[in-house]
Amino acid sequence: MATTTTTDWHALEAQLYMRTFARIPLTLVRGIGALVWDDRGREYLDFFAGLAVNALGHCPPVIVETLREQVGNLIHTTNLYYTVPQLQLAQILVEHSSLQQVFFTNSGAESNEAAIKLARKWGKLQRGGAFEIISTHNSFHGRTLATLAATGQPKYQQGFDPLPPGFVFVPFNDVEALEQAVTDRTVAILLEPVQGEGGVYPATREYLHAARRLCDERNLLLILDEIQTGVARTGTLWAHEQYGIEPDIMTLAKGLGGGVPIGAALAKERAAVFQVGDHGSTFAGNPLACAAGYAVMRTIIDQDIPGRVRLAGARLRAGLEGLRADFSLVTEVRGLGLLLAFELAREAGTDVLNAALERGLLVNRVTPTAIRLVPPLIVTDQQIDRAVEILRASVAAVQAMA
Ligand SMILES: *Cc1c(COP(=O)(O)O)cnc(C)c1O
Repeated sequence: MATTTTTDWHALEAQLYMRTFARIPLTLVRGIGALVWDDRGREYLDFFAGLAVNALGHCPPVIVETLREQVGNLIHTTNLYYTVPQLQLAQILVEHSSLQQVFFTNSGAESNEAAIKLARKWGKLQRGGAFEIISTHNSFHGRTLATLAATGQPKYQQGFDPLPPGFVFVPFNDVEALEQAVTDRTVAILLEPVQGEGGVYPATREYLHAARRLCDERNLLLILDEIQTGVARTGTLWAHEQYGIEPDIMTLAKGLGGGVPIGAALAKERAAVFQVGDHGSTFAGNPLACAAGYAVMRTIIDQDIPGRVRLAGARLRAGLEGLRADFSLVTEVRGLGLLLAFELAREAGTDVLNAALERGLLVNRVTPTAIRLVPPLIVTDQQIDRAVEILRASVAAVQAMA
C-alpha cells in the first residue's frame, strides 16, 4: 500500500494521457455555482465554466436532483425503444424554437455531423445532388474529420488530410464574398452567429440577413452552429433571435446538458429528410443526458435566464470597457451577452490568464491576444464585480511587465 495521501496528478497525466491538451496546472475537484476548488482546497471564481458548458453553474441542485432520480430509474436503453426524457426534451426545444424536429447527439461535433449529413441528403433530394457547404474563415465546427473539414482554421486540419471534400470558405461578415461563393453545387451555408473559438467575433446583422436571403433566393439551407451561442448564452435563448432571422438547421451542445454531455441538431420540417436507418447513435439521446437537458431548458425558460444574462452581460461588458479605457494593453471588447472577450495589444494572453489564476479567477485565452469570458449564466453581480477587479489587477501587472 502506498503511504502517501497525495497523488501527483500532473505527472500521472504526462505518463498516461495522449498529448492533446495544453493543460493549465490546476486540478479541480469540486464546484458550486460560479465557484470551484482545486485539490489543495483553494477557491477560484470560474469564468471559463467548462468552456461555456456549466450554464447553470457547478452542481446546480436542479440538475443534481434530476440526475439522482433518473439514475435510480433508467440510465440507458437503446434508441430502438421510446424513452420519456428524450421526448420531453425534444418537445421543449421545439416549442421554444422555430424548428420542428430534433436528433440528439453526444457532442457539438456530432451535432454538426448530423447537420452535414442532413444537408447532403437534402441536396440529393431537393437540389440535384448539390453537396457543397459554404463555411467561413476562422470558424470552428468540431474535431471529427467532416467537422474539421468544415472548420476554417488550417492549424486544426494540418496532419489529418485527406479531409472529406465538399467545403468551401469565405471571409466572415463579407456579404459579397458569400454571394459570389454560391454555385449550383452549393447546398448550404454554415455559420456561427458569434465565432466563439475563433476569438469571439459576432456576425453583423446585415451578414446574417444576407445569408438568410441568399438561402431563400437560391434554395439553400442555412445551418446555424449555435453550439456555443445557444441555450441563453448570448442573452436570448438562441442567438439568432437577436438578429431576427430563422435557420433551417440549428446545432446545439455545450450548455444544453448543464455539464452532462449532450448535443442536438434541430431542423425545419422541409430540411428534416432523414429516413429510418439514415443516422443513429448508441448513446445519443439517452434518458440520463436528456433528463439533464430537460431540467436545464425548464430552468432557463421558467426563470428567464436570458433576461438575467442580458443584465449580467451588460455589467461585465461595462467592467471590461473600463479596462479598455484605463489600460493601453486592452484594445477592444467584443461579444454578446455572457460570451465576451477582450483583445490585447500584444501576445500577452497567457500572462493575463496566469495573473488572473494567481488571483483566483479562471479565464480562457482564446487566441494569443484575446481572453474569453464565459461565466455560468447564473453568475451574480457581486461575482462579476470581483472578476473585473481581479482582471484589473492582472492587466495592470502584465502591462507593467512589458
Ligand atoms: C465547441 C464547439 C463545437 C464542437 O463541440 P464539441 O462538443 O467539442 O465536439 C462546434 N462548434 C462550435 C461553435 C463550438 O463552440
